[in-house]
Amino acid sequence: MEVLYNSTRNNGIQVKASEAVLKGLSEDGGLFVPDHIPALDKGLKELSGMTYQEVAYEVMKLYLTDFTEEELKDCIAKAYDGKFDTEAIAPLVSADGAYYLELFHGATIAFKDMALSILPHLMITSAKKNKVKNEIVILTATSGDTGKAALAGFAGVEGTKIIVFYPKNGVSPIQERQMVTQKGDNTYVVGIHGNFDDAQTGVKKLFADRELEERLDRQGFQFSSANSINIGRLVPQIVYYVYAYVRLLAEGKIAEGEKINVVVPTGNFGNILAAFYAKNMGLPIGKLICASNDNKVLYDFFRTGVYDKNREFVLTSSPSMDILISSNLERLIYRIAGNDAKKNEELMKALSGEGKYEITEEMKSRLEDFYGNFATEEEAAETIKGLYGKTGYVIDTHTAVAACVYRKYAEETKDGAPAVIASTASPFKFTRSVMNAIDGKYDRMTDFELVDELSSLANIKVPAAIEEIRTAPVLHDHVCGKEEMKKTVEAFLGIK
Ligand SMILES: *Cc1c(COP(=O)(O)O)cnc(C)c1O
Repeated sequence: MEVLYNSTRNNGIQVKASEAVLKGLSEDGGLFVPDHIPALDKGLKELSGMTYQEVAYEVMKLYLTDFTEEELKDCIAKAYDGKFDTEAIAPLVSADGAYYLELFHGATIAFKDMALSILPHLMITSAKKNKVKNEIVILTATSGDTGKAALAGFAGVEGTKIIVFYPKNGVSPIQERQMVTQKGDNTYVVGIHGNFDDAQTGVKKLFADRELEERLDRQGFQFSSANSINIGRLVPQIVYYVYAYVRLLAEGKIAEGEKINVVVPTGNFGNILAAFYAKNMGLPIGKLICASNDNKVLYDFFRTGVYDKNREFVLTSSPSMDILISSNLERLIYRIAGNDAKKNEELMKALSGEGKYEITEEMKSRLEDFYGNFATEEEAAETIKGLYGKTGYVIDTHTAVAACVYRKYAEETKDGAPAVIASTASPFKFTRSVMNAIDGKYDRMTDFELVDELSSLANIKVPAAIEEIRTAPVLHDHVCGKEEMKKTVEAFLGIK
């Protein structure tokens, strides 16, 4: 059955999957949502005999219904190949009573690779299907990981350019270095004086700028988004939850139909929303455990039904979760409002106006699948140290937030169901924070000394993504004010 995509702000808008991938955001500012969530059409047993790529096809074909089998399989083959350092693509590691789903084996050693390896191919295919002649300009705001993963995904892809904005002082040194050393004539990287929300707001403004859109079109360009609001990112993220489940099944760790809990370190709410979709496709998931750092807007939301971004923005050691506006939450709000675009729009208007909104009691009652909690900086650090001490397994700062919240959940509820914790970054990406958590003595070492120290301590080879940037030259040094983003884009594209 064909899946069409509605805007969360206007039910009258309905587009095919390939159009939704191309547009990224709906013209009314809404996000595209599937008009229904398709059910898995293969049994879990059957799926448990499949490779990652095969599972990817079985899941994605249900959403991208206007792609041919050949098109979709071709995209999958180009995405999940030797760029990943393990054939499993997303391996599961058992440690201290939980399963860590390692989503960091791609080109930039963070989970964004899972979707951004395939998005460029989905986009190029979508452009062809829709007879688009313009060059596609990817505009992205990043809190660190998206930027590099998008750059790596789009670099050198014909018919595309990519411009990435990041908060100049809001990403880790390694994240910044990864971005500013990016090769490829079609890549542009800009630090802005502001935080991630400023970057994201600026990008949203550019997308909504009709005058600019017309000028771009006249000169052979059109914008698209690689941010996690694009359904071309959301859909590939559903895959690994299904894959994790069927791997556990294949290995005899769970029985068919047995429920698992899923724990996700959350920022923009994309990853956990993908798990929610997986559950609604029929995957036996119990609780969706939403883990926040000190920017605990979501924890407060699940507790009170009030989403309130009016608070201090805290810079933490899990910067990819330092977010006060979780864009993808809008898709959940729309759904718990009973797919009511009017109601959703009203709440989103309140969010952009007063910076807060409150959902109804009825909507609140539809949030039972979720459990929210948060971990402070100290708790996350203790979690890294504790897990390493107990098992020798080293996790990154984001994953530590999830592991800590999972422990809180298990203690509070006594729910002993098997848990899959989304492990969203390699510890090598946040080496300094990780090593400082393990022992204060590492404070004196340089970043790359720490990388080597972590390698010997965790007994893992330094990932290629890190080796590369040891010596790579800086190719991007552009910095601008948050008001200058439009001018910057025009200059890069040579737009008049
Ligand atoms: C992006 C990111 C997250 C947050 O994921 P969302 O989909 O934005 O909720 C968590 N951890 C890491 C390492 C990330 O890069």
